[in-house]
Amino acid sequence: MLFRQFFDKESFTFTYLLGSNKQNAIIFDPVSNKIEDYLTIIKQLDVNLKYTIDTHTHADHISCSGELRNLLGCESIAGKESAVECATTHIEDNQILVLDDIKVKALYTPGHTDDSYCYLIESSIPQILLTGDTLLIKGTGRTDFQNGDSEALYNSIFEKLLTLDDCTEIYPGHDYNGFNKSTIWEERKYNPRLNFSSKQEFIDFMNNLDLPDPMMMDIAIPLNENCGIESE
Ligand code: FE
Repeated sequence: MLFRQFFDKESFTFTYLLGSNKQNAIIFDPVSNKIEDYLTIIKQLDVNLKYTIDTHTHADHISCSGELRNLLGCESIAGKESAVECATTHIEDNQILVLDDIKVKALYTPGHTDDSYCYLIESSIPQILLTGDTLLIKGTGRTDFQNGDSEALYNSIFEKLLTLDDCTEIYPGHDYNGFNKSTIWEERKYNPRLNFSSKQEFIDFMNNLDLPDPMMMDIAIPLNENCGIESE
């Protein structure tokens, strides 16, 4: 199995390339200003890009899912709850994508946004969980726009993600502190947002973060609802 992580320094976004034993691949959360890097590595590794997946509609960077789809003929995937009508495929909770020897399970995890999904690579040992902005390393995604909901985020994390095996490896959609991977065990034990004494304390904390809006928000959300393409 091929598994690569890319980092965009401007938006602190991680992008992942996952490849099968038959050289077919999925890219998760590709960033538009990095498209040349992805095209280069796709060519160098001689993989056939089958799917591009956005874990949710991003507010802080522009997706190049639509551009990759148009250039390479892959399918673009968004959650069925998303406003991204131009996606080729809308995925739903517990749906399994099979790519040769790889099985990827979609987990609907609303809270950061109402269209957030995590993706569990069930066929790898240990399992790999791409958490998008639902669960970050020693943090979580914010819940104050795009129909974010702190209680929904708590439920997604505690009822879905933390029920996975302790050794499940976590790869987030962003990191602002120099981390690049973790495990369910480490996050349950050391993530301060998962260690409040009650759900209500978590909700109160999240609802009082008072963060500034992402700089690109007004541009990125409408563009990303169009698969990152201005005229589509
Ligand atoms: Fe986000």
